[in-house]
This record gives sequence, structure tokens and C-alpha cells, in this order.
Amino acid sequence: MIYVDEMLGTIAKWMVILGKNVRYIRGFKDDEIVNLLKPGDILITADSELCNRARKVAFCVFIKERKRLDYSLAYIFASLGEKPSLAPKFCPACGGTLKKVKKSEIKEKVPKRVYTHHRDFYICVKCRKIYWKGSHWKRIRSFYKRVLRLMKRF
Ligand SMILES: [Zn+2]
Repeated sequence: MIYVDEMLGTIAKWMVILGKNVRYIRGFKDDEIVNLLKPGDILITADSELCNRARKVAFCVFIKERKRLDYSLAYIFASLGEKPSLAPKFCPACGGTLKKVKKSEIKEKVPKRVYTHHRDFYICVKCRKIYWKGSHWKRIRSFYKRVLRLMKRF
């Protein structure tokens, strides 16, 4: 499991968009976080002291809180030895798995304009939220490319 520490909410959100299933931990004391970790787990945190403690049990990626978002994400993916993905996999709202659905199945559930102008739709198996590659998709794709490019620096 990949855990993302409280102060890195934007990073947690973007990791999900880029294809990683993460658990965003809020309201945990440092001790509780360390106790939660098992070998093979990954913790992403901006707290260097917590990171040092976590490293006794699991893998920890330390992120400087004020670094640029694209730079931080490139550093995280490079540290994990994995590439970000553009295929919608997990629901940014609840972390559930996204499943591709036939257009006809969601006809009644999205605005008519969206239905007419888009081809690929996904549904979250957990919260049933429907996603499509709307206008925000271009922004996600260019961000993804930037992260890929920055990864070469690490
Ligand atoms: Zn969901």
C-alpha cells in the first residue's frame, strides 16, 4: 500500500489521476503511521523525522513541501521506479476502481451535451461516479508529459 501523509493532499490526488492507488492519511499521529506500516509499504511524506522512522519498516519518499507539484511527482515516480499512467484506473473522489462502460449504459446519467461529444466513459465501481475525458483532459495530458520529462532528471 502507498500511504500519502496529510500535508500532501494535492500530491495524493495527482497520484491517483496518474494511475496509482494511494491511501491519503489524515488525523494520524506519527506513532500511528509508523505502526500502520508493513514491509513493502511506501510512505510519502514531507516530514523528514517521520520519514527516518518509517524507513526502519518500509520504503519512504521524502518530499519538500514547497517544491513544484510536477517536480515532486516526477521525483516520487522515479523513486518508486514506476511510470505514471494516463489510463483512468482509480477514482480521484473515493479511490475505487474505474471500469470502462459502454456509452449506451450511461446515456441517462450524463448531460446530453457530454454524451454527444465524448466517446470513452468510465464508472467508479465503488461510488458510481462517471468520468469522461472532458476539457480537463488536455491539462492532465500535458501535465503527465511534463512529469515524464522531469523524471529523466532523477
Ligand atoms: Zn469513486
